[in-house]
Amino acid sequence: MTARIIDGKQIASDMRDELKEEVARLKKQGIVPGLAVILVGDDPASQSYVNYKERDCQEVGIYSDNYRLPTETTQKELINLVHEKNNDTKIHGVLVQIPLPKHLDESEVLLAIDPAKDVDGFHPINVGKMVIGEKSFLPCTPHGIVQLLVRSGVTIEGAEVVIVGRSNLVGKPLANMLIQKKPNANATVTICHTRTKDLASHTKRADILIAAAGRVNTITADMVKDGAVVIDVGVNRIEDTTKRSGFRLVGDVDFESVKKKASMITPVPGGVGPMTRIMLLYNTVESAKIATGLEME
Ligand code: NAP
Repeated sequence: MTARIIDGKQIASDMRDELKEEVARLKKQGIVPGLAVILVGDDPASQSYVNYKERDCQEVGIYSDNYRLPTETTQKELINLVHEKNNDTKIHGVLVQIPLPKHLDESEVLLAIDPAKDVDGFHPINVGKMVIGEKSFLPCTPHGIVQLLVRSGVTIEGAEVVIVGRSNLVGKPLANMLIQKKPNANATVTICHTRTKDLASHTKRADILIAAAGRVNTITADMVKDGAVVIDVGVNRIEDTTKRSGFRLVGDVDFESVKKKASMITPVPGGVGPMTRIMLLYNTVESAKIATGLEME
């Protein structure tokens, strides 16, 4: 068997077109969704993420308001800016790019974001709502993974899902979404981590295997059931002297061997990454709809 490649770029591009249309419809009603992105410091990866977010907003017609603050920014200055954006009626989403420089208290900053504008879905109020199955902003990466599965025609209902990784960013929220008593959920979920005994005994049971460990070759072909759907969340840099940058990006899954066993598989890059980006825009548009009295879908 050779797996069908789940094209995250294409699925994200389809969603971008849908969002463009939605934003154009909202604009006709006088509503312009707005996203404020706050970056502190000069971490190159964070800078490029923020640049992408700005470009993504422009592409779909979302108003973007970006702040690039110096590393020396104090906690008080940062919180004041978050409060200002919480109260700015042009803004429906407030995002503080993490990680923050070490002298800043990340959890205090995230708590300062109005849960109604928390389009990253990291505020404990939104996390709590997600866990109890209430409507909330869902974190972008796990929400993007669910969209990838649904839009690729994968049946989640009743599936054995095994997630490798238990971070607050990916593993835990994804597991919570997939166990909900709702459409596109109702899965039986196992979460694995570094203390899991015999990882392969779990992964081999998976109809849907999701690797979010951040470690090259965490999943090899012998750990995968025939016909499984494999989602690779990992992004790892490995040395590659043929590239100008000196490295290339690979996932957590040994793609070449696993694709011979799986029925569907996501590539890295071009799988989960583009979905994470598009879900931020999706949440911002949803937030604008709620703020202006239109229901959350
Ligand atoms: P993280 O906070 O480092 O968490 C990694 C998790 O994987 C931890 O729970 C860890 O277990 C577990 N783990 C690591 N090695 C393992 C192994 N050998 N066996 C079993 N479990 C193992 O990372 P993260 O933020 O969740 O991100 C995971 C990966 O996804 C990273 O490569 C990251 O760059 C990528 N990512 C991609 C996107 C995207 O949009 N494409 C978005 C977010 C993250 P312990 O808890 O026991 O330490």
